[in-house]
Amino acid sequence: MDTDPPDPRLHSLVEGIVRIAGGDLTTRIPLSGARDDVAAVIAGINLMADDLQTLYEELEERVESRTAMLREAQVELERMALTDPLTQLANRTALNSALSHALAETARGEMPPALLILDLDSFKGINDSLGHSAGDDVLRVIARRLQEAVRETDTVARLGGDEFAIMLPKSNLVRARRVANRIVKALGESLDIGDLRITCGTSIGLRVAEPGQTVADLVMEADTAMYAAKAQPHTSIKVFEPALLYARRLQSVMITELREAIRQDQLTLSYQPVVELATGRIEGVEALVRWNHPERGLLMPDQFIPLAEETGMIVDLGQWVLRHAVRQLRDWQQNLQVDSSFNVRVNISTTELQNLELIEHVRDILRETGVDASNLIVELTESMAVNGGAVDQYSMSGLRRLGVKLEIDDFGTGYSSISYLRKLPVNVVKIDKSLIDGLGVDEEQRDFVAAVLHLIHACGLKALAEGIETAEQAAELVRLGCTSGQGYYFGRPMPPEGVVALFSRTGSESL
Ligand code: C2E
Ligand code: MG
Ligand code: MG
Repeated sequence: MDTDPPDPRLHSLVEGIVRIAGGDLTTRIPLSGARDDVAAVIAGINLMADDLQTLYEELEERVESRTAMLREAQVELERMALTDPLTQLANRTALNSALSHALAETARGEMPPALLILDLDSFKGINDSLGHSAGDDVLRVIARRLQEAVRETDTVARLGGDEFAIMLPKSNLVRARRVANRIVKALGESLDIGDLRITCGTSIGLRVAEPGQTVADLVMEADTAMYAAKAQPHTSIKVFEPALLYARRLQSVMITELREAIRQDQLTLSYQPVVELATGRIEGVEALVRWNHPERGLLMPDQFIPLAEETGMIVDLGQWVLRHAVRQLRDWQQNLQVDSSFNVRVNISTTELQNLELIEHVRDILRETGVDASNLIVELTESMAVNGGAVDQYSMSGLRRLGVKLEIDDFGTGYSSISYLRKLPVNVVKIDKSLIDGLGVDEEQRDFVAAVLHLIHACGLKALAEGIETAEQAAELVRLGCTSGQGYYFGRPMPPEGVVALFSRTGSESL
């Protein structure tokens, strides 16, 4: 049977289809002039190839842009994983990686990195009393100041809360100290939050890495030095030394125990009489806290108040003291013949004054016990009253509005705030023992105390002398016109039963 020779176009048609199917979407099958079925199929296939090519190109564009987006997202994720969202500083992960990089370089013979860990001194008070958004503002300002105080190549990180770290690569002790000093200065400057002007001191722990040290050890040791700096008043920079590690272990045990002690009423209050010097009449008492430690016996405030202040536990401790002291006063008012002016004094520390709930709390206790506010005297230190920022002022005026009296404790130690004395919102000034010690033996000291008393009286305030140990001191103070006093000569701090015994022994309220 004769067959027609095959249409030559069929060959190029098949070839074209194979190429298109193989992915070459630019392939087009040549068209001859003829207008028959084969030509129609070729035209159809070429159209399909056009569409496929367009689709493919669009798809490729989309894939490209998606890939770019993914890459950006990945970079952003990586950045986020290494950045503190609040301050945009490096975070702990980033710091650790910078440290391990620097330590690896040290192993290759470079200078070691230095690590500074710092913690803001009064941040908790700011956060508690002004709210978290003000607290956040403070952290952002601090972050900026830290960054401005160091070089580009240093890593500034926020470790969480009010804790920051700075890693100085290729450093040494002299250089690191210089940076630490610069930071203390930068953070010591006041900052404005809303209408308030506050200052936020800092405690810095400094550790220059030792050869072969791990990141974890370096961080832990800088941290330990920071805690030591915090624990020592007036010390804002502490260089790590191995002895600090032992002290820290002891301290962490004590923190847990103190928390328990507050909850389990292991605290007790001793009361020291405050007397009218001329007559010996008991005007009131000062409540002084003690810790009846199950193993270590009776601990004095100096052994745990600083720790309580540092950890913020002082707020709970202070509430405990206030509540128990005011309840005790109510008890005496009901069961002893104390007169209506008999008062109890309670010591308040800086952190407590910075807590806006203090006023609320005092009000609650007074309401609960029915004790009159004028029978409560709050003792503050001179520096709190003088240097206090807006929050302290708020607390002080709030307490005064309640009717509580304010007293400056330990007057004459360190600060000389003579010019402030007139402006302070206080009622009584308690002259420190160190000024009283020389009375009765040293004439110049007598003149000095006379001048101090004169000054206090000139400011319209009442004076009280503390730490009176001898009859001579008491007599001298009476001659100098000081009306009230307190000290071992009249009575040591005693348990409440001791106060009851005093009242029953004298039959009246006098010593
Ligand atoms: P302060 O408020 O100045 O208390 C006076 C301290 O001097 C008391 O020591 C008291 O026992 C002692 N003292 C009184 N008279 C004499 C004396 O004639 N001679 C000598 N050598 N010492 C005398 P204490 O009880 O150890 O308290 C020490 C400090 O602890 C207090 O100083 C106060 O700043 C703080 N503190 C005590 N209780 C509390 C408290 O409940 N809360 C707070 N925040 N601080 C407290
Ligand atoms: Mg006191
Ligand atoms: Mg005192």
